[in-house]
Amino acid sequence: MIIFGTRGVKSTIKSGNFNCPQCETSRPYRHRKVTRFFTLYFIPLIPLGSAGEYVECGHCKGTFIPRVLEMGNSRNEEFMAIYEKAIRHTMVLIMLADGEIDEREMEIVQKIINKFGHNDITREQLDIYVHKVQRSSEDITTYLKKVGPSLNEHGKEILIKCALSVAAADGHIDDSEIDLITQMAKTMEMSNTHLEGIFNQMIEVKE
Ligand SMILES: [Zn+2]
Repeated sequence: MIIFGTRGVKSTIKSGNFNCPQCETSRPYRHRKVTRFFTLYFIPLIPLGSAGEYVECGHCKGTFIPRVLEMGNSRNEEFMAIYEKAIRHTMVLIMLADGEIDEREMEIVQKIINKFGHNDITREQLDIYVHKVQRSSEDITTYLKKVGPSLNEHGKEILIKCALSVAAADGHIDDSEIDLITQMAKTMEMSNTHLEGIFNQMIEVKE
């Protein structure tokens, strides 16, 4: 049997110091590029093109869009850490997945966004955001495929932790929720070992 597939491979294009929007001070960075490769027996063989790039802070591990390097003062929503944007978007998509939103769900999602994110979201901002996402009709797999290459392991981990927190909010995590979270991790090309590690860590925290 021949095993083939594709995988994103990361490389560093440039490094130096930048004004990190999350640390709000000068920090070392790495400008990372993700190239999609055709793999044979899990070995990357043929480059298929760029899957994305991002700037990673050496201190807080946040990843940002590359244009953050051109900005002297980057206190702007556009330069919010990519994982933070991804948390907002993914949480809303999970909430919308069953077709309805109730008040309790909105409260939980707002709490989780503000717990894991660096910038607080108000209830009004969340309402506006939910309406925006509702109009876009993009599903969670499509979204994560797009954003995955702009996240480092730290960002992916936070995203999975948020999804687990939403799933656990009603007191139990059921099989369909486990399936969704496993699918999310797979789409972002996380290893099973990494995912299991996060599950175990979350269970320990709860006990
Ligand atoms: Zn930072």
